[in-house]
Amino acid sequence: MLSCSPLLVYTYVMTNEKNFHPRSLHNGQYEFDILIKKNPKLAPFVKKNAHGDLGVDFADANAVLALNQSLLGHHYEVTNWSIPKGHLCPPIPSRADYLHYIADLLAEGNNGEIPKGTKIKGLDIGTGTSCIYPILGNSIYGWKFVGTDIDSDALNHAKTIVNGNQALKKNIKTRFQKTADHIFKNIIKPDEKFDFTICNPPFYASLEEANSASDRKVKNLNANKQKKGLSQNLIKKNQPSNFGGQKAELWCPGGEVEFIKKMITESFEFKTQCTWFTTLVSNKEHLPEFYKLLKKINCTNIRTIEMHHGKKISHLLAWGF
Ligand code: SAH
Repeated sequence: MLSCSPLLVYTYVMTNEKNFHPRSLHNGQYEFDILIKKNPKLAPFVKKNAHGDLGVDFADANAVLALNQSLLGHHYEVTNWSIPKGHLCPPIPSRADYLHYIADLLAEGNNGEIPKGTKIKGLDIGTGTSCIYPILGNSIYGWKFVGTDIDSDALNHAKTIVNGNQALKKNIKTRFQKTADHIFKNIIKPDEKFDFTICNPPFYASLEEANSASDRKVKNLNANKQKKGLSQNLIKKNQPSNFGGQKAELWCPGGEVEFIKKMITESFEFKTQCTWFTTLVSNKEHLPEFYKLLKKINCTNIRTIEMHHGKKISHLLAWGF
């Protein structure tokens, strides 16, 4: 899901229908021969489907992890990356797209040129175990990042990844958010400035909601596999899968609506300290509520960017004061 939703898994499945950002490195088919060379552990997971196309089983957490490691190594020179079992395994291409769209926003204020390097500073709200946005943002554009989370274990894992990659070490820092109810408070220091914030918020309002959505996705994946002539038995109901993220990764009280409303409200307090506040919005039906709140706090510079990933459209909401 977007959001941190498992739905994004489908961006990998639809290898023939990619239309990522024009600067994306993932618009073509996966070059499995190169990816396997980069990470031989991917080899056992790459199989031909009934139509003779090579692919991996996207319901297999180990397969997705190996693919991600190959993609990160091959395209982004990130060699030490892993996520603990059961945690959200981010689809690399769509996560990279979010950064490309942010780069476009930043270019608007820079005579049309994308600003690169460590003078640009991003704040990733809910960086998770994967630390994926700071890693990609630093690797692609050289930007500096602060990643926050309320989950100290996730943050420790993120730190281990960063420390394991020399190039990331200097440019990515983590900060623990000790109050789950806060987004920017206690994180942005007085007089500190950020060029943008980025966020893939917890989407569901409860663990039950997250679990039943996960079951639906399992059914859809099975149907998809049937179409592709693959065994359906690989994915079973309630089986821990690459969807992962059964705790705060997938849900928070009030779901994405309350999370983003809180973010919008708090952004007003930090309006002079950040140029662009941004977040993914999983359900576009929620957008009008966010526009209303933005209007209430006199924010007029609002963008909604559609990100097309195969048949799936994600929405990126950005605002500045
Ligand atoms: N950015 C990662 C993980 C997103 S999951 C990715 O895109 O894959 C959402 C994350 O937000 C979880 O790690 C969760 O612990 C964190 N989170 C929830 N509430 C938060 C808050 N108030 N401040 C910072 N992080 C929060």
